Amino acid sequence: MENVVIIGTGCAGLTAALYTARANLNPLVLTGLLPGGLLTTTSIVENFPGFPEGIDGYELMTRMQKQAERFGARVKFETLDSIDLSQRPFVLTVDGERVETKTVIISSGAGHRHLELENERLLEKKGVTFCATCDGALPMFRNQPVVVVGGGDSACEEASYLTRFASVVYLVHRRDSLRASRIMAERTLANPKIKPIWNSAVVDILDVKQDKVTGVQLRNLVTGAETTLDCTGVFVAIGHVPNTQVFRGQIELDANGYVIRKNGSETSVNGVFVAGDCSDPVYRQAITAAGMGCAAAIDCERFLAAEAI
Ligand code: NAP
Repeated sequence: MENVVIIGTGCAGLTAALYTARANLNPLVLTGLLPGGLLTTTSIVENFPGFPEGIDGYELMTRMQKQAERFGARVKFETLDSIDLSQRPFVLTVDGERVETKTVIISSGAGHRHLELENERLLEKKGVTFCATCDGALPMFRNQPVVVVGGGDSACEEASYLTRFASVVYLVHRRDSLRASRIMAERTLANPKIKPIWNSAVVDILDVKQDKVTGVQLRNLVTGAETTLDCTGVFVAIGHVPNTQVFRGQIELDANGYVIRKNGSETSVNGVFVAGDCSDPVYRQAITAAGMGCAAAIDCERFLAAEAI
């Protein structure tokens, strides 16, 4: 029987792992399919305190994992198939194996939101991507025009990164100003290789017949006019959706699928705690996720200690 199983190894999960390990709870930590979480797909992280020159996202997460393991966290490259939170001990099926645990910390993070266009799906990995750091250097994007969709920090980051490879980066946003933080927005708009296309939506991605991206169909949301823009890549950076499908029906989620958090890190199920982007539609920062991971670990430890009395 496990004391605690931590689901997810982003900033929230690995911080919870560090704290529960140091509390001698010997945590089992499941990475899911993306060990280190979404931050591993970022280039430089400039706003995590303690790194004045910034730190590579992958490097930061590798260090967090090592730190948690140093105190005994067991980080496993395994995926949660299903979970039964209806009674204790809780029962998890992990890569087909049954795992029983006294408590759970959910820190399953968030995934990329999609445009929900059919051709986005059909041309994924053929020019449509959700990660500039992962794919930006591919030959198909070098010295070619590419499109980034979105107006937040992620879109700005993707666009800036892509200027290293692409001939021009079109930043297509549905409004006439960026949602991104001021420093990111100013830096992005000052970059001569980034051309914003305001008040516009990508309504189709071409060309499935050629089995690769050759352009996008744009609609001007003010005039309704439609145009085609040639490009070899479409980088979709329009926000995130929480990774909480597997908990549906087991635990209270809000209308957008975020785990509802109360009294610190508690959830609707006694003994199940939550931390990070899967429960945070507001801040969604590496440092807030880490803080929530710490809080969840402390709440979990106190819960187990109170039960042991
Ligand atoms: P976000 O802030 O939610 O921005 C999403 C953007 O996509 C918005 O501009 C939104 O438009 C647009 N959008 C949403 N749905 C769309 C759709 N269906 N079609 C077209 N456009 C759509 O998401 P994010 O940029 O991924 O950032 C998430 C969080 O991570 C934020 O808190 C951000 O500060 C943080 N972050 C920080 C950094 C950094 O500090 N270095 C880097 C990346 C992310 P509207 O503006 O019209 O809503």
